[in-house]
Amino acid sequence: MERENLKTYRLEEMEKLIKDLSLPSYRAKQLIHWIYKRYARSIDEITEFSKSLREKLSEKYCISNIRLIDRKIASDGTEKFLWLLDDGENIESVLIPDKDRLTLCISSQVGCPLRCKFCLTGYGGFKRNLLSWEILDQYIQVSKVIEEENRKITNIVFMGMGEPLLNFDNVVDALWRFKRLINFSPRRITLSTAGIIPALRELPFKAPPVKLAISLNAPEEITREYLMPINKKYSLSKLVEVLREYPLKHGQRITFEYVMIKSLNTSEEQAIRLSKLLRGIPSKINLIPFNPWEGCEFERPSEEEILRFQQVLISKGFSVFIRKSKGTDIYAACGQLKAHYRAK
Ligand code: SAH
Repeated sequence: MERENLKTYRLEEMEKLIKDLSLPSYRAKQLIHWIYKRYARSIDEITEFSKSLREKLSEKYCISNIRLIDRKIASDGTEKFLWLLDDGENIESVLIPDKDRLTLCISSQVGCPLRCKFCLTGYGGFKRNLLSWEILDQYIQVSKVIEEENRKITNIVFMGMGEPLLNFDNVVDALWRFKRLINFSPRRITLSTAGIIPALRELPFKAPPVKLAISLNAPEEITREYLMPINKKYSLSKLVEVLREYPLKHGQRITFEYVMIKSLNTSEEQAIRLSKLLRGIPSKINLIPFNPWEGCEFERPSEEEILRFQQVLISKGFSVFIRKSKGTDIYAACGQLKAHYRAK
């Protein structure tokens, strides 16, 4: 009989399982503590339980893990983790140190179906959605490794492989688990999306209050549609309309990501159009200079082009930041996650 993975259990399910085994209720808390705080990789590692209790639990249950098969560290300190999943698929996560922050960038799907022209992940095609425990396990396994080095993840961003809002149920479930099982504050989690409108409408009512980032990348339909085919289905104008109505808490802002591509979306005219488009939305704009990859048709704009674009937006009253590329020497930078590795 296939044993059940305890990492698929919610808090209440864990409590019920303990009750059904006629064990005292504090055992449920211990189980959660050992899985989510001490990162036990098997029931046998839960040494707070007697050998007989571990054996009894192991008859029906197990603890599954995504398995680390490669860890690369870039010269700027960015780290890439390559994982093997139970069905042989691979995903990647990226750990990004920045001043007093340590941000983990996680994947939500194996591959991605969106096929944005500038993003390498899309070219590998789409394999499947990640289960909520596989999303959470990226945090657990990285934490296990780095806490031994006295480091701790302070922020999580859903900016790895995949489109989180196309895996809505698992992502929302994972967000609740981060909050309730790991005690990770939703305010330190950012969900980044290309703008799947129906899911975006539901998100604030179904998920804990995480930060929202939108991959905008162009200020007019025609350019956005060229770069991001999803714009045919969910247009820029509809997206912005939904964002105007998006329920934000006091002081909260929406982050707009804008990949800057030479001679495509970086003109002054486009900066002005962008300012008009976003007028009235509490926002923060992140300009991400395009990260080239082998065989891509685009180029990164000049420093001057980027600064000019930023200046126009600042003059219109926006907060605009230029994101430095990190981890480029280990292919861990934005849009370079593809998981070339194949298990032999
Ligand atoms: N699907 C989600 C999350 C993954 S992409 C989304 O679209 O937001 C995360 C970010 O990386 C997006 O803002 C995307 O525009 C950016 N990105 C993708 N490829 C890139 C590249 N080659 N250079 C720079 N940024 C890139």
